[in-house]
Amino acid sequence: MPNELIVDKLAAKTGEKMTGTVEFKVDAQQYTLPVFLINGKKEGPTLVITAGVHAAEYASITAALELGQTLNPAEIAGKVIIVPVVNQAGFPVRSIYINPMDGVNLNRVFPGDSSGSASEQIAGWVFDNVMKQADVYIDLHGGDLVEALVAFTLFPEVGQPEVDKASLELAEVFGIEYLVRKEGTSGSTFSAVAAAGIPSILVESGGQGIWPEKDVARLTEGVKRVMRHYEMLPGGKPNKMNTIALQHFIWLRSDHDGFWYPSVAVGDDVSKGQPLGHIKDVWGNVLQTAEAVADGRILFLVSSLAINLGDPLLSIGA
Ligand SMILES: [Zn+2]
Repeated sequence: MPNELIVDKLAAKTGEKMTGTVEFKVDAQQYTLPVFLINGKKEGPTLVITAGVHAAEYASITAALELGQTLNPAEIAGKVIIVPVVNQAGFPVRSIYINPMDGVNLNRVFPGDSSGSASEQIAGWVFDNVMKQADVYIDLHGGDLVEALVAFTLFPEVGQPEVDKASLELAEVFGIEYLVRKEGTSGSTFSAVAAAGIPSILVESGGQGIWPEKDVARLTEGVKRVMRHYEMLPGGKPNKMNTIALQHFIWLRSDHDGFWYPSVAVGDDVSKGQPLGHIKDVWGNVLQTAEAVADGRILFLVSSLAINLGDPLLSIGA
């Protein structure tokens, strides 16, 4: 059928919404993934939206579900594919950062590998069957269960000037104030998709295991702004928003197992050399002082007292 929207065994004809699950084998076990296919009545680009690559980033998962449940093919020009919870094994166990099937962060293994670890197999399947269909790709994230966060959008720079320009434009259109440049690939969803020549962003909203309406709406409204920009939804081009592009996304990590006492709040402006918190042992001895390595703003902050060697502590957008 011409103009059918197809993911594996699921197909939506023009003007139709089709929902259901697709199944594939991961380490010889069945992996079941719910998918929304929304095939607009009119021609237009294909937008792919994923969420739940990190299984406990609930505002983003809620936003993907809302979009999947409410977008109406009769009003849409083009096609939308939504995978609301990519990390299926992580969701029921409220997994932080990783896929419990192999202990790997799914957002470090894209574009995946069908003969690799469980996470690589999942990434490979989603990349080949879903992401590669996109003309525009948005991955929805937020702070994890133990992270507070100010909303921001990551835009990739993969060294393809036209794709990089289109990704930055996509980030500006989405409308969140802080945009953060992410160079190279390093296995993240949006960078891998951008490297395949498709304009992409990763958007972060909400955190700490809750999903307030304002954090969800920031994402659903951003997606609708993008859809209006590409004339996939009526209403004309969205108003231009004020955005600030930050050039560096700096992560500080723990060098110890211990107890984390941050001395800054998420959203704070910090200056180079400023102490940002301490990691202490059980006796109260300071094992590590986290210091700002550049002037910038705290974009996410781990709010867990328990901290492990190698865990992120916070990030600075600079
Ligand atoms: Zn995430």
